[in-house]
Amino acid sequence: MTDRWKQMAAAVGDFYQNIGELPVSPNVTTSGIRAHLAERYGEFATPMSAEALQDDVLRMLSEWQVQPTHPRYFGLFNPSVHPGAVVADALVAVANPQMCVYSHAPGANEIERHTLRFLTRKLGGDPETWFASFTSGGSEANQSAVIVAMTRDLPDFARLGLTAGLPRPMIYLSAESHHSFEKIAHGAGIGRDALRVIPVDGTLRMDVNALAKAIAMDRASGRRPLMIVATAGTTGAGVVDPLVAIADLCREECLWFHVDAAWGGTACLSPRLKKAIAGIERADSITWDAHKWLSVPMGAGMFFCRHRDAVATAFAVDTSYMPPSTSGVDEPYVTGIQWSRRFIGLKLFMALAELGEEGYRSAIEHQARIGDMIRERLVSAGWRIVNDTPLPVVCFTGPALETGHMNAAAVVAGVQAKGVWISEVRISGCEPSLRACVTSFRTEPEDVDALMAALREFQ
Ligand SMILES: *Cc1c(COP(=O)(O)O)cnc(C)c1O
Repeated sequence: MTDRWKQMAAAVGDFYQNIGELPVSPNVTTSGIRAHLAERYGEFATPMSAEALQDDVLRMLSEWQVQPTHPRYFGLFNPSVHPGAVVADALVAVANPQMCVYSHAPGANEIERHTLRFLTRKLGGDPETWFASFTSGGSEANQSAVIVAMTRDLPDFARLGLTAGLPRPMIYLSAESHHSFEKIAHGAGIGRDALRVIPVDGTLRMDVNALAKAIAMDRASGRRPLMIVATAGTTGAGVVDPLVAIADLCREECLWFHVDAAWGGTACLSPRLKKAIAGIERADSITWDAHKWLSVPMGAGMFFCRHRDAVATAFAVDTSYMPPSTSGVDEPYVTGIQWSRRFIGLKLFMALAELGEEGYRSAIEHQARIGDMIRERLVSAGWRIVNDTPLPVVCFTGPALETGHMNAAAVVAGVQAKGVWISEVRISGCEPSLRACVTSFRTEPEDVDALMAALREFQ
């Protein structure tokens, strides 16, 4: 093992240090990759030297993928990674703690608990009463919220499912919300039609009047409103739904208030940005991903829930083959979807411990400032910003796009060919637009210069 790590150390350091020199987008075909794998690896008949293998894998990772850790990746919510978090993930792989039973890994479970209690406080929750756990990602956290809410609202649901003759449960979310809920509604057996998609207003926020009307209509026709999902930082446009108004409506209507803050939850670590997500502390449950704006490697999501008892009911099982439960702690395998579970939380714990809260704050605010800079530069160059958020996602369009002289996909391809990664986005009520998100804490003003230079000819 020691030799392997020594051999890896230099290569890892080079990769991290020189990421900006790599092409941000791959230039390879599927058939090219398959031919290489068939030729080199075939039926795995000949063992390969560790050194040659590492070289080949590193080359594939360097050349055959979009580089999310590149400072010119103005991309989806995939971050650059803090070195401490990478080391943490490697240590987890070496020691391989089994998290599912507390008594198997009390140290690891307590490290996660300590980290999650800190983050619960940052969200404005009470760590003494709230439940919190690490998940594979935001999808699992959203799924957990739906399962727990259904279990709490419909007493027979756990045993009989929808065959209990229940009225149809309905989930309300905006046209800009995340599409994981379609798969979740499908899998939960309530069907994709249980999602009531509420239109957004001119600022891309959920229209609360339309929401109230939809709830009243559903009640009148015998359906059973269950949950409102507010998004804090939409995936397309980084916009935050009106959390306080939605929290008030949930209270009046006795509905579960879920906040999907997969990306935007991180704003709570910045005194300057946290007002953008005010109201999140009133949630019944919250989704927050560490593998997005908290800049740790995938996969690391988090699920927070005010109703500890409902979580325990939703995931309860009784077996003889598992070691006895420890009293006074959350046993992971009976409080979440996963069974065997990786020590997901160590990467966030180590990044937090090494950077401190202050280090995180400054990285987050740096990214927000770069976002502001992109907005200013675009506007002064004649582009038009189509989203409204203090968070670092900028959606924009320009004369050539608006008149139809250019299409967004062609601009995206042209900009990517110049070594800058942006994407196309379709947000409600707008023509296809361009989207640049500051996902890397390593993005600097010179990278914004490169973005502006790459965009120039497509205006
Ligand atoms: C990314 C995202 C998700 C899904 O999270 P994964 O970690 O990719 O499973 C859910 N909701 C929002 C708002 C997101 O941006």
